[in-house]
Amino acid sequence: MPFMFGDFLDRGVFVKARFWGTRGSLPAAADTLDVRAKLVEALMASRGHVFRNERDIDDFVDRELPFTGRGYYGTNTACVQIEGGTEYVLCDAGTGIRDFSNHLAAGDNAGDTDGRPKLFNIFLSHLHWDHIQGFPFFMPAYAEGSRIVVHGCHPGMRSAFSYQQEHADIPLTLRADISYEMLEPGWEYDIAGFHVRTITQNHPGDSFGYRFEKAGKSIVYSTDCEHFEDSAGDDYRFLDFFRDADLLIIDAQYELGAAGLAKENWGHSSNIVAVELGVRSGVRRLCLFHNEPTIDDAALTGFLEGTRRYRTLYDEGSGMTVDLAYDGLEINI
Ligand SMILES: [Zn+2]
Ligand SMILES: [Zn+2]
Repeated sequence: MPFMFGDFLDRGVFVKARFWGTRGSLPAAADTLDVRAKLVEALMASRGHVFRNERDIDDFVDRELPFTGRGYYGTNTACVQIEGGTEYVLCDAGTGIRDFSNHLAAGDNAGDTDGRPKLFNIFLSHLHWDHIQGFPFFMPAYAEGSRIVVHGCHPGMRSAFSYQQEHADIPLTLRADISYEMLEPGWEYDIAGFHVRTITQNHPGDSFGYRFEKAGKSIVYSTDCEHFEDSAGDDYRFLDFFRDADLLIIDAQYELGAAGLAKENWGHSSNIVAVELGVRSGVRRLCLFHNEPTIDDAALTGFLEGTRRYRTLYDEGSGMTVDLAYDGLEINI
């Protein structure tokens, strides 16, 4: 087949999700006992191996050690960066936005290229504290010359950010040019190089999902959303919103038992509903998000394995992969 310039352009399209914060409701730090348990697991797994140099150790850690022995599902509340646009794009401003900001300060421009303006677009799912609490520690907000546009469908965005700033007791003046752009649920926009769609979600006080599309690639960010019985219908409105997404980042805070009984109407969904909606929508890669902060890595690993088994049971032929988000995860699409 002859080489077409369009092929080159297609191959050159780069869209990526970087997870800076993945916990739901409140941060969850690892403590000394957690670290010790990981050390014990790693040392047990290393028995019988001979490491001649650091590279052998890296290979062992990267290829043989289970995630529970080498990583941590994470500390921070919601913040996901969508790379590949013409400006910075962040979904939510939970405590993960502080790590994003530290990364910038350390000189890694998070995929930036020279000469791009320091313009940060923050798409807010809603105003619950776990989605805005990192903003007082977002250093670009204190830098003259940077611009921040907060996009969302909640009319109270400006007052929520001002209130939080006032009551955070931070003796610093916001120096960035900060503006708030109201979006209408169900409407479509072109922002920062992405075509963006919005949807109203089932959550106390409402939340909003975003679909980012660029050159045929798509990432959907849909957190803090409870899917009820009507989700079984063929005309369920989220099926169209999720349709054929390359990556669906979806609220799956609970296992089915908790979501359906004790925590009904709390505004979150289960891993089971997430799998079913993903498969029915033709999603390629599902990423469970808004992780329950009270459960440890071993339990989260079991949760992920159980979800993958359910995906196979539900539709063996589905090619949809299933991941569980953790701070530091990067997914290229
Ligand atoms: Zn939340
Ligand atoms: Zn919420």
